[in-house]
Amino acid sequence: MCGIVGYIGYEQAGSFLLDGLEKLEYRGYDSAGVCLNDGSELVVKKAKGKLKVLKELTQNGKLLAGTVGIGHTRWATHGEPSDVNAHPHLSKSGRFAVVHNGIIENYQQLKDYLTSKGIVFRSMTDTEVIAQLIEYYYKGDLVDTVIKVLEKLEGSYALGVISQENPDEIIAVRKESPLIIGLGDKENYIASDVTAILTKTRNILRLENNEIAILKRDGVKIIDTDKEEVRKEIETVEWDVSAAEKGGYEHFMFKEIMEQPKAVKDTISPRIRNGRVVLDEIKLTDEQLKSFTKVNILACGSAYHVGVVAKYIFEKMLRIPVEVDLASEFRYRDPIINDKVLTIVISQSGETADTKEAMKEAQRRGSHVISIVNVVGSAIAVESNDVIYTWAGPEIAVATTKAYSTQLAVIYLMALYFGDKLGTIVPDEYKALVGELEKLPERIEKILEHKEKIQYLASKYFNSKDVFFIGRNIDYALSLEGSLKLKEISYIHSEAYAAGELKHGTISLIEKGTPVIALVTHEELIGKIVSNIEEVKTRGAEVICIACDSHPEIESHGQTIFIPKSCDMLLPSLAVIPLQLFAYYVSSLKGCDIDKPRNLAKSVTVE
Ligand code: GLU
Repeated sequence: MCGIVGYIGYEQAGSFLLDGLEKLEYRGYDSAGVCLNDGSELVVKKAKGKLKVLKELTQNGKLLAGTVGIGHTRWATHGEPSDVNAHPHLSKSGRFAVVHNGIIENYQQLKDYLTSKGIVFRSMTDTEVIAQLIEYYYKGDLVDTVIKVLEKLEGSYALGVISQENPDEIIAVRKESPLIIGLGDKENYIASDVTAILTKTRNILRLENNEIAILKRDGVKIIDTDKEEVRKEIETVEWDVSAAEKGGYEHFMFKEIMEQPKAVKDTISPRIRNGRVVLDEIKLTDEQLKSFTKVNILACGSAYHVGVVAKYIFEKMLRIPVEVDLASEFRYRDPIINDKVLTIVISQSGETADTKEAMKEAQRRGSHVISIVNVVGSAIAVESNDVIYTWAGPEIAVATTKAYSTQLAVIYLMALYFGDKLGTIVPDEYKALVGELEKLPERIEKILEHKEKIQYLASKYFNSKDVFFIGRNIDYALSLEGSLKLKEISYIHSEAYAAGELKHGTISLIEKGTPVIALVTHEELIGKIVSNIEEVKTRGAEVICIACDSHPEIESHGQTIFIPKSCDMLLPSLAVIPLQLFAYYVSSLKGCDIDKPRNLAKSVTVE
């Protein structure tokens, strides 16, 4: 959720730390801070608010002296966002400093204990107990002390620790929260993810749970909690530095919208060979596949909306019942699930705490889990039984676009692959669908070429108070995503409704001038949705339709954005583009912080 960076080397650490934190801003945060060992003591600078405030406080790093330091962007869980609650946190005497990502679940117990020993806490955070515990147990060896402290901690953490006594090392450790080590030339780094260090190195080590990294200027050693050395493969990151930067666009979100043809192509193309879908990465046997009586999909946010689309597609094409669950609800409802149920979990970051925990629950009950994940080597990817990676590249904007599109692409691939194996798709249909799937990237491109029309519609409605999205069947699944996209980045209240359901309540909210965005792509139900459009128009709504160019008559029912005709299954990938652009332009016209909407975080690593 929050961001961690750390540097140890022979250069001044300040500017790298601030730069690294800037790269991690997309993860969402409410305060930022750094701590450097200036040669004699630990100096902390931290402030509530955006990184800009910290930069001003440190005169863009000029006031930061030292060649070893740690930095943090905090997304508050315990204690309000404030200067004092911002990280790094110091121990009582100021000799130890800690940055932490995650939650210490037993912090109150530990705090009570330390308070009874006379330690006075400065902040309201759970994190401060870690700094205080380190000093409390310190007997001259920092590694031993950190190992002892880990035994006391319950919950999730990625930690960076520096101390006054040990000016030549950073200790890093993680459990259930991501942390990587970057290897440089006579300098080394820690970071929550690679984007923070890509300008310096592509060589990384991925820490696993309870592994402890000891970083010196000239090397890194990884040990386990028994102090046994752990040998690790160095991973080379293929991502281009520019892929993690804005590349000339004003916002990451716009860049990522425009990257969708490529992202979808990268996800689909390597998996279609000689007209057949090949999912080599899945170990699931045909016998296992045939034994499933149900599919269970677990996800949160936009990934959940992908799951709703998948329900319509899988039930139609695989003739198997599909249940879609919000991951945060699933684990607490005693779900009926066993080895006859195939579970699919979807998460861009692969670190979404709710999804990860729901996945574990499904596995505990015997279900085989296939994950759809964007970040290679992330927790969900590693812990699921099978993983199918989306090849979207780094997604920086908090509001997902290209990850959503590539997740949909994987759903189509799975539908075809499984449908073929189960014999539920006839060869002609299979061939036609594969052909259409291969055309998807260029069709997305075509819609992007006509973005001005959507910009014009956004300029007409950006002052609206409420916007409604309606659709039927797969169009309804898509309207959920359209509505979320708009509300999360423009702060306009919006709701998605199954068009036939509107008259059972929500239609009372429609008044003169209320914008209603109607998805009219699902061939079989066009007549029905047109009736629903007329119902809202009668009550004053202004309707924008998204329809296939094979139905020019839709224009007589409302202002219409046309998308190229494709088979029904694939239309969500096309119809979502105008919805993303509409949300983007509305947010831009309202002057909102598009890439970092208020209160939101990219990778939601708390439950
Ligand atoms: N639980 C810690 C806090 O509230 C860390 C939160 C984070 O991951 O940023 O300070």
